[in-house]
Amino acid sequence: MKDVVIVGGGIAGLSAAWRLRHWDTLLLESEGRVGGRIRSERRGPYFLNWGGHVYAGGNSATGWLLNNTGVEAIDVPGSLSGLSMNGRTIMEGRVETYPFRIPMPLQARIGMVRTGAKVALQVARYSRIVGRRKGETAAERQQRIYEFLNDRSFKDFIGDVPADTQALFEPTVTRSAADIDQLSAGAGVGYFSLVWGIGGGLTQSIVGGPSTLTESIAASLGGNLRLDAHVDEIAHKKDSVVVRYRENGVPQEVQARTVVLATPATVAHRVAVDLDPDIREALSKVAYGPYVSAAFLSNETGRQRWDDAYAIATPKRSFNVALNMSNIVRGHERERQPGSSLMTFSPGSLARGLLDHDDDTVRRIYLDDLDQVLPGFADHVVEAEVQRFPTGAPYCFPGRAELQPALTRRGGRVFLAGDYLGTLYTETAISSGLSAATEIRSILATDRQTARRTLSSAA
Ligand SMILES: Cc1cc2nc3c(=O)[nH]c(=O)nc-3n(C[C@H](O)[C@H](O)[C@H](O)COP(=O)(O)OP(=O)(O)OC[C@H]3O[C@@H](n4cnc5c(N)ncnc54)[C@H](O)[C@@H]3O)c2cc1C
Repeated sequence: MKDVVIVGGGIAGLSAAWRLRHWDTLLLESEGRVGGRIRSERRGPYFLNWGGHVYAGGNSATGWLLNNTGVEAIDVPGSLSGLSMNGRTIMEGRVETYPFRIPMPLQARIGMVRTGAKVALQVARYSRIVGRRKGETAAERQQRIYEFLNDRSFKDFIGDVPADTQALFEPTVTRSAADIDQLSAGAGVGYFSLVWGIGGGLTQSIVGGPSTLTESIAASLGGNLRLDAHVDEIAHKKDSVVVRYRENGVPQEVQARTVVLATPATVAHRVAVDLDPDIREALSKVAYGPYVSAAFLSNETGRQRWDDAYAIATPKRSFNVALNMSNIVRGHERERQPGSSLMTFSPGSLARGLLDHDDDTVRRIYLDDLDQVLPGFADHVVEAEVQRFPTGAPYCFPGRAELQPALTRRGGRVFLAGDYLGTLYTETAISSGLSAATEIRSILATDRQTARRTLSSAA
């Protein structure tokens, strides 16, 4: 019998596996690679990236994991507030000035200033909501964040505004993978707080690309990691759990004292057949929006306009942000090396508009738009690959706060982990994986004590 079976080799499952690496563990991952929604690949001095790109640092679970695994992360270099809209591209400056620097009708400018002030007021409230309070648990704080303006959508909150005003707000809010009428007002406000860097948030780039972290952990697991191992069912026995899976299509079964279930909620709900009905029901109600992303490698020489930018918001395009992944190299090189690595991504309805097209068509649509945003880039592209994420990210919809108590209640010897348990993406995934591992270590220690006691009383 295994001490722990971990189901899902995304960052949540890998974080649990790292903390439990001195126990008898087995990690089952259905795909042929680890990382889940984290995926990058190295290309010379650069890396191509398709998934999570910015990470928490400092005194966070992510900071702990990076330090502990020896993986280096640095502050994201370059401007995070580029904007390309209505034929003009601005690479930096104060965001408040943008409505006056981007060509748009006067009504839209007025709408922008009014709505901007409304959002800024709530962002200030939000920063008090997320602040840690003395004596409270992390779960209490997370519940408060979910409850913030959770009774209406972001669209209801901003009301009817001119089309260009809405277009300017959309790229930030929809990065959540939800459209503005799906996302709760509080989560929309929270996104501005995140993007404006209030209260820390996601500010780190992983040197060498995000998969450096996931692959380092995977390498430390050796033979305790099985790829192409698809879990179908997890069921409790008296003091253990049975995990049924197919490895390369062949049915297998393994028994464990405990399980970390670190798949998206859509899968957890299905495979954990005997969790309490209210936990399963809550899992079934977690909502995800899709993402489509693409990574581009180019071979241009000499300085380019995008060299100092990290993120350029792109309203009214097929993707809503262009990200400069080579920026991490730009920040540290003496002489400008040839080439760049850019990432584009499309959340929510933008992704739904692309999911039915084949990869060649998506590439062409992206390159046409990229060429408008960054003229000249498309001529130098030497590699381009598209990735689809049907469950791109869980989002906080109006009413989502009510699910949290059931989702965070313990269900026997099966522990849930994943980004859907909180509001900070990879940071939530990592902290939930680490917390599951901590609880499991205590159960395993108790099991050992009980076994020892039984043995000595039998003797
Ligand atoms: C384009 C994009 C951009 C993003 N940007 C950011 C960002 O900048 N910052 C940030 O913090 N977050 C970002 N995110 C979100 C972030 O990537 C996720 O929150 C995080 O990676 C989720 O980790 P996880 O382990 O919870 O889930 P996942 O990564 O989904 O891992 C779950 C794993 O379970 C496996 N699995 C599923 N079913 C089974 C089964 N039946 N049996 C066995 N294994 C199974 C899956 O294959 C997968 O590997 C982004 C996501 C995308 C797609």
